[in-house]
Amino acid sequence: MNHRILVYTAIFVLSLLSLSFTFNPGYKDKYEKVRQRMVRNQIVARGIKDQKVIQAMLNVQRHLFVPANNERMAYEDRPLPIGEGQTISQPYIVALMTETLNLNADMKVLEIGTGSGYQAAILAEIVKEVYSIEIIESLTLRAKKVLTHLNYKNIELKTGDGYKGWKENAPFDAIIVTCAPANIPEPLKEQLKEGGKMIIPLGGSIAQELVLLEKVNGELVKKVVQSVRFVPMVRDDGKRY
Ligand code: SAH
Repeated sequence: MNHRILVYTAIFVLSLLSLSFTFNPGYKDKYEKVRQRMVRNQIVARGIKDQKVIQAMLNVQRHLFVPANNERMAYEDRPLPIGEGQTISQPYIVALMTETLNLNADMKVLEIGTGSGYQAAILAEIVKEVYSIEIIESLTLRAKKVLTHLNYKNIELKTGDGYKGWKENAPFDAIIVTCAPANIPEPLKEQLKEGGKMIIPLGGSIAQELVLLEKVNGELVKKVVQSVRFVPMVRDDGKRY
C-alpha cells in the first residue's frame, strides 16, 4: 500500500473512533471519569455514606458551574472563584453539608447564598423543592442560566438578602446557609419546621464553625460539625452580619 493511502486510512479510522466516543450514549460528558474519581477520592474516601448524596455528586456536572477559564479545575479538592469575589465550595464541604441535613425526596429546602448554583443542583437531585437566595444579582442570573440549561424544574431562585429568609414559601424542612453570619439569623430560625435541620457556618470573617441546628420544641439544639471558611453573609450595604 502506498504511504499516502496508509496515512489517510489511519486518519479515517481515528476520526471514526473519536466520533463513536463522542456520541456513545453511555458516555455522559468529557469530565465523567474525572467526576467519578472526585467522588471516590474526596467524597466516599472521607466517609460520606448517604447514597443519595453520592449519586447527586456523580450526576451534577460541576464544571458547568465554574467560569470557563477554571473549568479544568472544577473537580479539584478545593473551592474556586466564581467572580464577584465569591467562591464555589470545595466538593467535600458540599457533600458534608448536604449529608448532615439527612434529606429525602419529599422535602422542601431553603439555601442562602446561591453563588454558582451548584449546591442548589445537588439539593434538587435529592429533594422535591429547592428555594435559593443570592444577594448579588449577576450571580443569580448566571446560576439561573445554567440550571435552566440543565432542565431543573424544582429550583426557584431570587435575588435578595437571605438573612430574612423566604417567608412566602416557609416553613422549610431544612435550611442550608453557605455564607457566614456571626449569629443565627432569627428569621431563618422562625422559617424552619419543627424537627427540621439547619446547617450554617457561624463566626468571624476569617474562620467559622460549621454548626448543625435541629428545631426541637421550638428551640434550636446545636451540634458543632467542624471548622470551615466561608465568605461572610452581608447586608445590602455590603457590611457583614
Ligand atoms: N452555594 C454556593 C456557594 C456560595 S458562596 C455554590 O454552590 O456555588 C456564598 C454566596 O453567598 C456568595 O455568592 C454571596 O454573594 C452570597 N451571600 C452573601 N451574603 C448573602 C445574603 N445576605 N443573602 C444571600 N446571599 C448572600
